[in-house]
Amino acid sequence: MVRVVLTGDELEGFTSLGFDDHVKLFFAGGATRDFTPRRFDAQARELWIDFFLHEAGPAASWASQVAAGQSLEIGGPKGSAVIAQDGIDTHVLIGDETAVPAIGRRLEELPAGARALVVVEADDSTEWPRFTSPAEVEMRWIARDGSGGTPAQGLIAALGDLELPRGRSFYWVAVESRAARAIRRYLREDRGIDKQWIKSAGYWQQGAAGAHERISEDE
Ligand SMILES: Cc1cc2nc3c(=O)[nH]c(=O)nc-3n(C[C@H](O)[C@H](O)[C@H](O)COP(=O)(O)OP(=O)(O)OC[C@H]3O[C@@H](n4cnc5c(N)ncnc54)[C@H](O)[C@@H]3O)c2cc1C
Repeated sequence: MVRVVLTGDELEGFTSLGFDDHVKLFFAGGATRDFTPRRFDAQARELWIDFFLHEAGPAASWASQVAAGQSLEIGGPKGSAVIAQDGIDTHVLIGDETAVPAIGRRLEELPAGARALVVVEADDSTEWPRFTSPAEVEMRWIARDGSGGTPAQGLIAALGDLELPRGRSFYWVAVESRAARAIRRYLREDRGIDKQWIKSAGYWQQGAAGAHERISEDE
């Protein structure tokens, strides 16, 4: 992952209320990609964006060569529904590398006394970031099994080993699109979670550029 800190007077008034908001980043050739506003410091006018360096694509390529002094055009964030912190006993956050910025932000923003269960699948066990949080956090890192198999196989197996929290648990999922669909289906059908307590999104799609998919009811 590469963290880029953007500064500039044009960040005056920047507002991002939801941990899973996104900004549009504009790259050469008119490519736009969605990224999480990882943190915004209004006083310093600093916006953090964390890039996962996967193999190819304008965003990953830009981030792999970025140096101080370069500029980046951004738009947004687009106001998205804010998932409340109240009324939830356990915040279950399930993701891959692209979800790590949103998960890191959520954990920092949760109050003391909140509870979170985090399940992240990532490629490289040496690079698993440390999260900080006032909340009580149970963390599961899953090393990706690169041998193929069905989407979300590793995450679903990890979830299968867990006793899911009792009470009101909100399940937030952000992974590759087909995996997001498979995990949603697993939570609904195998674990009996009500659809109102799941938000699942495809943060990228295998073989497609710039994909963003909200996984809705039982596709
Ligand atoms: C709401 C939202 C917030 C997001 N926040 C972040 C964030 O904070 N940090 C972050 O790193 N990403 C984030 N993403 C994911 C990011 O937008 C995608 O990974 C995007 O495709 C990257 O653009 P690119 O130009 O690098 O690659 P693209 O040109 O979009 O894709 C090129 C190729 O790379 C593949 N690819 C894309 N992403 C990955 C990946 N993660 N792993 C393996 N292969 C991949 C594609 O399938 C395609 O074949 C977010 C996505 C959404 C929808």
